[in-house]
Amino acid sequence: MRFAPLHATALAALLWWSMRPAEPASAGEPPCPSVPDDATSPKDDAARPGSDLLYRRTFLGDEALRAPWIELRGVEVPIERTQPGHGVVVRAAAGGSLRIAPEAALPMALVDRVLLSVSAPTAMAVEFELVDASNGARTYRRIALAQGAQLITIPIADLHYDRGRVALPSRSTRWGLRFVDGGELELRALEFRGDHQLGADDRELATLRDDFDEPERVRMHRRGAFVVLTDAPQLDARAVLDAIDAMERRTRGALPSMPAPRRAVPLLVFADDAGYRRFWQRLSARAGVSVVPRSQDEGYTWMGIASASYSDEYGAVRPTYVHEAHHALLERSYGLAAQRSWLFEGLAVLEQLAVSRQDLTPVYHRGLRRADAASHVHDLVTGQPISNKNYWQAAMLVQWLLADPGRAAALDATLLEMAARGSTDLVPLAPRYFGADVRALGREFWTWAWQQWG
Ligand SMILES: [Zn+2]
Repeated sequence: MRFAPLHATALAALLWWSMRPAEPASAGEPPCPSVPDDATSPKDDAARPGSDLLYRRTFLGDEALRAPWIELRGVEVPIERTQPGHGVVVRAAAGGSLRIAPEAALPMALVDRVLLSVSAPTAMAVEFELVDASNGARTYRRIALAQGAQLITIPIADLHYDRGRVALPSRSTRWGLRFVDGGELELRALEFRGDHQLGADDRELATLRDDFDEPERVRMHRRGAFVVLTDAPQLDARAVLDAIDAMERRTRGALPSMPAPRRAVPLLVFADDAGYRRFWQRLSARAGVSVVPRSQDEGYTWMGIASASYSDEYGAVRPTYVHEAHHALLERSYGLAAQRSWLFEGLAVLEQLAVSRQDLTPVYHRGLRRADAASHVHDLVTGQPISNKNYWQAAMLVQWLLADPGRAAALDATLLEMAARGSTDLVPLAPRYFGADVRALGREFWTWAWQQWG
């Protein structure tokens, strides 16, 4: 479908974005999964009742690390250091890794936590990782090992993935350790355990609720794939669900090949801005990273979880809710992370406007007059994070793509390949799907843009 023409008055936030001075590229980049040095070890809840042992691997003697089930990179097994009756000692260079393909398939659908038993001669950082068989990408969590023997519990819900391809723990066929610091480590055992009372969606939603300031105040409202979780008493959840439902219908109209979301799509609306920021600190700390919305981010989406704080400034449905829910919907449908790319932002801004009913004309008009060499389409569509000052251009470009049925169909098809490649980079795909390279598309786009909005 085409997006309805945008009418009336300007979107203040976009105007503000368009007028703000350029910021350094680094400030606009997505949360980087680098980990603070003081990441703490997950607490040990191995003794929790009702958990089933689903997989166990012990490491007694060096036999345990023989091929073909093992890949070692930058890791060696000093036989002389491995004592009878103890786990195997591995000596790793910084960045070395060890990956294990179990003899039988991992029962990932049932696993909710991993227990790792090791002994470290000195404190060191390692990453536990699961490798998604479908795309080779990984979900992982950094662990700060203390000196001595220890049993580490790693909830599956606390694993996260990197920018690009979305890795799912449920598709993992091998597990491994990556040695952030070099050093020796005695591997003793690894177990996968699970409780079967709750489905994956319920587990995730329960975890999200628990990261609110006061979980007992959180209401949950579901419709279709969407679940609104809120501790804002004034929030009209029905109006919000109506708006994101309509957004999903428009999105499916524009992108008919979009797969169904593989999980529930959560939208979190916090009673206030401080609670919203504390939530992300808590959730990301559990994942071993520090992910915090920038001060200018009214909404934030990470790992397919959309969030914003409550405001009635624009009526019952703050446009930001729809913007972030759009990111989360695409992430969970395509398996492609948002990360402030031109395509996700362009589409989400148009959806936000469909709610705010505000008009981009003055923004476009002004933007065109300010456009310069930094506005090359070629630079915008590489799949890298764009800065807020380019959102108007991303929105205009997406609007141009959707304004023509041929280009809209090409975009629909392109997105599936983008998902497979793990990037919204249009540069390598444009000739095949649009019959022209990005520079030629850019020229056509700017001509159209000046005709429409100049
Ligand atoms: Zn966005």
